[in-house]
Amino acid sequence: MCSCRHGDSVFPDVRTVSECYALKLMKKRDLRTMKLLRRLAIDNEGVRKRFKLAAALVNKKTLISIGLNEMRTHPLQGKFGKNEESLFLHAEIAAIANALNHLDKEALKGSTLLIHRVKRKSSLNRRDWIDGLAKPCEGCMSAIVSFGIKKVVYSTDEPDKYKEIILV
Ligand SMILES: [Zn+2]
Repeated sequence: MCSCRHGDSVFPDVRTVSECYALKLMKKRDLRTMKLLRRLAIDNEGVRKRFKLAAALVNKKTLISIGLNEMRTHPLQGKFGKNEESLFLHAEIAAIANALNHLDKEALKGSTLLIHRVKRKSSLNRRDWIDGLAKPCEGCMSAIVSFGIKKVVYSTDEPDKYKEIILV
């Protein structure tokens, strides 16, 4: 049984984190933010034209920052990143870094991080974008935990079907 309030899918391999599909119970505000992020991800040049993501941090009903993955390095990425993809700035880390530009670390506690990825349906249909899996990598997950973020919402390969991770 999932330890989160949704009581859905279980990922027992991660002890402090529960993860499940959340579409039915998802807040309208989160859904709206995901739609905004989808548009931003489409416009984002991304990395190697394959990774086009946008992320947002929301705290106390307020959007506090937006982050895009980019083909550049960042000190915060270097601190938390563990794999070779961490050479590039991930959208999640970008959102955290952008929030820290104007807020204290304390202001990130209890916030929600939303992440959306888009990918090409086919190489022929260059304008045709479909949803892609935006589950945070291990490095981003450790940043999320370390900044006290309480919830993560991310897109999946299924259209308009998002997943939530509740950190307990
Ligand atoms: Zn990452």
